Amino acid sequence: MYLYNSLSHKKELFQPNSPDIVKMYTCGPTVYHYAHIGNLRTYIMEDVLEKSLRYLGYNVKRVMNITDVGHLASDADTGEDKMLKGAKRENKTVMEIAQYYTDAFFADCDKLNIKKPDVVEPATNCIDEYIHMVQTLLEKGNAYLAGGNVYFDTSTLEKYYVFNDHDEEDLNVGVREGVEEDSNKRNKNDFVLWFTKSKFEDQALKWDSPWGVGYPGWHIECSCISMKHLGEDIDIHAGGIDNAFPHHTNEIAQSESFLGHKWCNYWFHVHHLNTDTGKMSKSKGEFLTVSLLEQKGYNPMAYRLFCLQSHYRRNLVFSWENLDNAVVAYDKLVAKIATLQDNGDVDANVLQALKERFVNALNGDLNTSLAITAVYDVLKAKTTDATKLAAIADFDKVLSLDLLKAANTVRKQQEQETAASADPEIDALVAARTQAKKDKNYAEADRIRDELKSRGIEIIDTPQGTKWRKV
Ligand code: AMP
Ligand code: ZN
Repeated sequence: MYLYNSLSHKKELFQPNSPDIVKMYTCGPTVYHYAHIGNLRTYIMEDVLEKSLRYLGYNVKRVMNITDVGHLASDADTGEDKMLKGAKRENKTVMEIAQYYTDAFFADCDKLNIKKPDVVEPATNCIDEYIHMVQTLLEKGNAYLAGGNVYFDTSTLEKYYVFNDHDEEDLNVGVREGVEEDSNKRNKNDFVLWFTKSKFEDQALKWDSPWGVGYPGWHIECSCISMKHLGEDIDIHAGGIDNAFPHHTNEIAQSESFLGHKWCNYWFHVHHLNTDTGKMSKSKGEFLTVSLLEQKGYNPMAYRLFCLQSHYRRNLVFSWENLDNAVVAYDKLVAKIATLQDNGDVDANVLQALKERFVNALNGDLNTSLAITAVYDVLKAKTTDATKLAAIADFDKVLSLDLLKAANTVRKQQEQETAASADPEIDALVAARTQAKKDKNYAEADRIRDELKSRGIEIIDTPQGTKWRKV
């Protein structure tokens, strides 16, 4: 499989460190509010990546954190704590907020067929691990104490900006507009590993540490949670593109300084879901959730298809019109699948050829829109319905669009509609016509057909027998 690696800025042949297992880490949600459908685009594409790896024969161990502490309003360690902000907004405790929005997040994932990672770890579970890493970084000279906080010293690194070639002026996160520079920092991109002092309102959750009572920085949680469950090296680290800097850049800085060797080989970044006014984000106030889509009558599967129709490395523009187009595409696809009859034999050669197209799409840097085209190719193929159904069931292990389930529902609905319009008199006429055909009395059969037609009844001859419907 070829995957674009943000570290090398090119597509690379994916080779895990060990042939037995792919170790994958993904940044999880900050659970202070509902996930918006932009966040969920990232989780959908990560889900497709994980399922593709499994489909291609790899074992995968995937770990994800839940950020329930330490994420300040700005990714550059400034502003109010997001969890505290959520708690104040809803008059609840931070832990109540964390529990509520963690559950809400997984409920949304369920609706979108996003599989739960093998390990999900809340950040508040791993305080000992953070303290150990911070202590080691201090001992190694990669960190310093200033104004009661522990900072990572980015000047100790040979290269800090691993994902891009921008110079410091371009990526000056410490002094964003309206944000005061932290005078404790020796270098403007130094970041907090452990807070004991914040000039904003006091943290709700705090722990004892060698540097005083405080709480961890946001970046350190991903390094430690990953190492706790995946060891000293990982194959793939994934997240939204906004996480590349500073979050992932800082994760690499502290992890590799701590370990003394390379930490992660492939960095997978999903680009943003934008609206016509720019990136969808919670700080802008109104944002779209899966529940809101449902309230408006949208099937979450249509949103999943909408995401899969575009490549993960392109920004995707959300509009209701675009989503409506995805709904039409989904419904048409399902309707076509619903016409397939589950009979006949599977043609193994044809199935193999169809699968090859699908695999090629995945192998080409997770080209999901081409993978969807492979589904249409199945429907167009000159082969048995059984082969088509087998191919669609197989592809849906990765796409997770509930294609067969939805097709079954459509088929059942059609049957129910037919049953609901049952009429013994019409049934008797249809049976008489069938008998007339058997007796080769075609004149009589045609006469009955015409009579039914004059009563507004259409006859449909199917391999399962003759059906009728009111027109
Ligand atoms: P958060 O809960 O804010 O930490 O974000 C969760 C995930 O969603 C992260 O991987 C972000 O990079 C990603 N993300 C945030 N905004 C967007 C967006 N508009 N489109 C796609 N992914 C996003
Ligand atoms: Zn992270």
